[in-house]
Amino acid sequence: MKITNITPYVSMPIEGLPWIFVEVETDEGITGVGECSDYRSTGLLVKGLEWIKREIVGQDARNIENIWQTIFHTFDDLNGRGYVSHLISAIDIALWDIKGKALGAPIYQLLGGPVRERVPLYTHVQDWNSEAGGPDAAAKAALATKNAGYQAIKTDPFPTQSGPDAGFSGPAEVERLTPENIRKSVEWMDAIRGAVGPDFELMVDAHARFDVASAIEAARALEHINLIWLEEPIHVENHNALRQVRENVRVPLCIGERHFTRWDYNEILNTRLVDYIMPDVAWCGGISELRRIAAMAEVQFIRISPHDALGPVSIAAGFQVCMTTPNLYRQECLHTWFDTFEQMINPMFDVRDGSIYPSELPGLGIELNMDTVQRYLVEPDTREYLNIDNAEEDATGKWIR
Ligand SMILES: [Mg+2]
Repeated sequence: MKITNITPYVSMPIEGLPWIFVEVETDEGITGVGECSDYRSTGLLVKGLEWIKREIVGQDARNIENIWQTIFHTFDDLNGRGYVSHLISAIDIALWDIKGKALGAPIYQLLGGPVRERVPLYTHVQDWNSEAGGPDAAAKAALATKNAGYQAIKTDPFPTQSGPDAGFSGPAEVERLTPENIRKSVEWMDAIRGAVGPDFELMVDAHARFDVASAIEAARALEHINLIWLEEPIHVENHNALRQVRENVRVPLCIGERHFTRWDYNEILNTRLVDYIMPDVAWCGGISELRRIAAMAEVQFIRISPHDALGPVSIAAGFQVCMTTPNLYRQECLHTWFDTFEQMINPMFDVRDGSIYPSELPGLGIELNMDTVQRYLVEPDTREYLNIDNAEEDATGKWIR
């Protein structure tokens, strides 16, 4: 079964969220879909997929592992973790979809069969920096989510640093949490905890924004919330700094969406840096790699909770692995996007009481609705991401915020 074509589609049914879907075709008429959406790098990824196409068209689509290794090593001068692992993920997911369809079985059956009847989810309420209101609105949203059947939610309660010391506020900056901002974060979480009660599961995401001192102060101030985890308290590039945070707080920690492949996770797990990990199936190296990372975490008695803030193919792929993973916590989702997913895929996921239930459909168990994908096609440049922050072009053509 030879690969005959690879086609990326950038579709943006929700403003500011361009999803990259990848269709892999074969000479036996079986087609698979993958995803490697990244809201800041759409143009780069589509260009990379064009290079991948040159490498693997003509190869046997059944040889998933060999193709994984081929892409990883062909581009390893770039470091296979990150950009390259995003590209691998899209192809790997599509090839598993093809294999499942060829064998007439869901992917979770090919991975050893289910270890659970359903995959529990966690979802989000708005972050502090969103424009959806203050703590009262967040508390109301949290209660509505609980009443809709979800048992766990995550939020980012930290205001962005402002004032004369704030600097550029670009993605590379390390932010400081002022005492005022920590107080506002505690108010945010107190309001949510008050609405959902003492036993509801809550997580906080710091989005890798803060310096070590801010992260430690914030974690201590939020200790009484009884968090399941504090996510990415500092930037991810310095594990020694993360160890300093870990040794000075009593809140469980989680990292992973900015870590890729088994080699990134090897050190994290062996040095016991965190209590949970959250690889993203569309970034870490696909279904093959998420499965391996989950097994490595199992050895360390650490649960995984696949990160997922992307399109429906990514959720479908992560779900297949979660069905077979004994050391699962929950799979991430944004339940407010499910109405859009219903337009994009067929059939829609069987979501009940905060969980996704499996089907017996082969492969990923879903098909992309290409009419909807085509309706929302956008150019694969970076403008979609910048538009989120109302970016404008200055006189020299440089994007400014
Ligand atoms: Mg996060």
